[in-house]
Amino acid sequence: MSYLDRPLNALKGIGEQRAKLFKKLGVTDIYSLLTFFPRAYEDWSPVPIAEAPFDRPCCIKAEVICEVTAHYIREGMTLYKTVCSDGEGRLELTIFNNRYAAARLKPGREYLFYGSAGGGLLRREMASPEIRDPGGGALNPVYRSTAGLSTRIIENAVKVLLRSLPPGIPDCLSPEILKEHGLLRWYDAVKNIHFPADGEALENARKRLIFEELFVLQLGLLRRKSRNLAANAAPLQEDFTVGFASFLPFALTGAQTRAISDAVSDMRGKHPMNRLIQGDVGSGKTAVAAAAAYNVIKNGYQAVMMAPTEILAEQHYRSVSELFAETGVSVGLLTGSTSAREKKLIAGRLESGELDFIVGTHALTEDYVRFKRLGLAVTDEQHRFGVAQRALLYAKGENPHLMVMSATPIPRTLSLMIYGDLDVSLLDEMPAGRKKIETYAVGTKLRPRVYNYIKKHLDEGLQGYIVCPAVEEGDTGLVSAEEYYEKLRNGVFREYNLGLLHGRMKASRKDQVMRAFASGEIQLLIATTVIEVGIDVKNAVIIVIENAERFGLSQLHQLRGRVGRGEHASSCILISGAENESGRRLEVLCKTADGFKIAEEDLKLRGPGDFFGRRQHGLPQLKIADILQDTGLLSAAKDTAVRLLKNDPELSAPAHIPLALQTERLFSDIGEGSLN
Ligand code: ADP
Ligand code: MG
Repeated sequence: MSYLDRPLNALKGIGEQRAKLFKKLGVTDIYSLLTFFPRAYEDWSPVPIAEAPFDRPCCIKAEVICEVTAHYIREGMTLYKTVCSDGEGRLELTIFNNRYAAARLKPGREYLFYGSAGGGLLRREMASPEIRDPGGGALNPVYRSTAGLSTRIIENAVKVLLRSLPPGIPDCLSPEILKEHGLLRWYDAVKNIHFPADGEALENARKRLIFEELFVLQLGLLRRKSRNLAANAAPLQEDFTVGFASFLPFALTGAQTRAISDAVSDMRGKHPMNRLIQGDVGSGKTAVAAAAAYNVIKNGYQAVMMAPTEILAEQHYRSVSELFAETGVSVGLLTGSTSAREKKLIAGRLESGELDFIVGTHALTEDYVRFKRLGLAVTDEQHRFGVAQRALLYAKGENPHLMVMSATPIPRTLSLMIYGDLDVSLLDEMPAGRKKIETYAVGTKLRPRVYNYIKKHLDEGLQGYIVCPAVEEGDTGLVSAEEYYEKLRNGVFREYNLGLLHGRMKASRKDQVMRAFASGEIQLLIATTVIEVGIDVKNAVIIVIENAERFGLSQLHQLRGRVGRGEHASSCILISGAENESGRRLEVLCKTADGFKIAEEDLKLRGPGDFFGRRQHGLPQLKIADILQDTGLLSAAKDTAVRLLKNDPELSAPAHIPLALQTERLFSDIGEGSLN
């Protein structure tokens, strides 16, 4: 075992109890402590007392000028007071109850005091400052912490660890690569990311660590792709797309035609297809998948399509059955609520090859589901599946072709980079005749009018959604979907049939509610963003989003895509309490319906942090790099990775072993075979 893989309690000062707390933060071994990067830094460069700001913490370097006095307030509460001076200004210090801190302060000695300086124009004071001896870097790390494990305890653990680190831990980046990109050595970078001497040292440390992470990410993705290229698929003999198109009730868009032709030419090759179909909501991804399936089936294979929820699976089943109505292709549906008898029947038909195409949920991954000749596996909204589930599905054939569909718009250049091991087809064109969804951004004052507007639609037999943000702990001034639902149900919408949908409900209950909504029984659905993905209820024509300023534009766009799916004119109303910047950015949505444009705006306005939900794309979780922010380093890392793999595709050269290990480490949390 390498030193870095040793468990935390091998370290001095970390016992079992503390190791448990660290585990809560995801820190389990030496390596993960070293790479538990600070989430922020406190600036401990001292300012003169006279210039201490009133609105944020600062650091004062000053000499204690009188004895500390203790003031007993009541049982268990003692105040300690003293005064310090930096030669020009005086600062009164108060320490609550902390005898240890008070005893440390000796008149005539100089300390650093970090905290918020209050008081008035003439008298400045600081309560409960953090106290240190002078010296040390100006930037102090702040870590993500947890009860019983403060950022200071973590800081000390890292300090002890860095001091005791044995020499000779190999750097996974070679001296040549370091030189080429002007990067710090690993040890220096790790030291400086925790305890930077100044801003520049921090920047250099970040650069090195970000590069490393992206480089290793690219290596992993590229290697997977090359492994895929080594596998043999059964190539399709014939292209049946023209025949399929003639069965459709509509003409394929140019983008659909291109995506289908990409897929078919992949599948006619020697290696399994591994293709991502990326298209905005409503761009017609299902038809693309169906065309691919049709080709596979006509060539004598079977196809499977997996959706993340029963509702979506049923929806796909209906649309695919319609598309295949005249083709003679047999289609089945298998979900958790399929009866045992029916399941058995379907399994038999799949195994005998009688059933060509099966649509379903992860129920499809169960053991008893076997195919005669699986040629294509499609997953919809792939990021919602666990790696293991996808792998189980793919294992049901011998190197089946893979297609994943995603509605999350990512600018193309970026997605090519991110999905190193997937080929990407973009559906960047909407089917003709789509009605614009009228979108309005309004303030909370208009809420009564909005309610009336909803009622008007419900009275016409149409349906709607009201979306509220999921409430997190510590949020103030927000109502949960539950409370909101109760309020509306017993108030303004007393005479209507309301439904409630949120993430903490059981899957079966969610499906039940969605079914009641799809059938029209529920007129108005109060929901959190769980309705975001793929739901298609044509009779729903109005969506109101509360606290819209709290959502990303892309997410709002996805939500908006829940309406405008039928022949009726539809509208989307964004209610926001913010008149400022975040309120104004909603205007983007009122002006455009192009998901990719919106994504780009989103990026510009909000920065990348929120844009990529964690793990949303089945990529390993990055610790420091930000794929969207660090695009320059990303492309440098990719070029370097391509070059390196050209010389050593298996990373088997002795010099590359640390890199191979690092790749494994990065990808270990999502397991082998994730993106495919
Ligand atoms: P998404 O890409 O969001 O999954 P769907 O595949 O659900 O979109 O398609 C949305 C709707 O558009 C469906 O009702 C589908 O039948 C219809 N559709 C798909 N392609 C076309 C087309 N080329 N012309 C007209 N309608 C289309
Ligand atoms: Mg879809």
